[in-house]
Amino acid sequence: MEISIAIDGPSGSGKSTTARRVAQRLNIYYIDTGAMYRAVALLSMRKNIDLEDKDEISRLSKETNIEFGQITGEDSQKVFLNNEEVTDLIRTNEVDEIVSEVASIPEVREIMLNKQRELARKSGVVMEGRDIGSRVLPGADLKIYLTASLNTRARRRFRELKEKGKQIDFAKVKDNIRLRDEQDKSRSHSPLVRPDDAIEIKTDDFGPNKVVEKIIE
Ligand code: C5P
Repeated sequence: MEISIAIDGPSGSGKSTTARRVAQRLNIYYIDTGAMYRAVALLSMRKNIDLEDKDEISRLSKETNIEFGQITGEDSQKVFLNNEEVTDLIRTNEVDEIVSEVASIPEVREIMLNKQRELARKSGVVMEGRDIGSRVLPGADLKIYLTASLNTRARRRFRELKEKGKQIDFAKVKDNIRLRDEQDKSRSHSPLVRPDDAIEIKTDDFGPNKVVEKIIE
């Protein structure tokens, strides 16, 4: 039987690291749906498309081919946008600033939903995002909802950007996370919610290994 695990939660709650390690442990696919919205945001930025031009962004997302490569070590997975590797390019502060707006476009979400379900059909998956348990894979075998305080989440994101050599102010990172949370929770189409049947894990005081063990258990 192919297993499907949905992991949702706000930015910086530890979804990516956790999901990647669970996938490695169970030897199943890992799908980072945030990377898909980030790839569309990057492409819109490169083509100078106005964020108000929702039709053009939707059209673009239809033509966008997003592929995931191998997991490289514990902390990264290669992401390809129309055959170009964009793993680091989708994780800049500039993309952080526009991605939630791009992801709030209902047509873009429908296109991504179809791509995500298609990916999940192929084999066992751990899929992480904001609407996986509630919308993309409502019948998932296991649903996890990760949370942590805003401060903890901002610190994690700040550390991540710093490790990549980015010069960025902590207050700015925290503001961006707060704003994205608001946008992700209040959009009309598939907002971030904790599914009723999800197990919630607060990750403030847990390292990723503990969270992974809990999920495997
Ligand atoms: O997970 P990550 O922070 O990389 O996601 C970037 C953005 O993509 C989120 O802030 C959210 O706006 C959007 N997203 C979404 N639905 C998902 C995954 C991500 O709307 N399933």
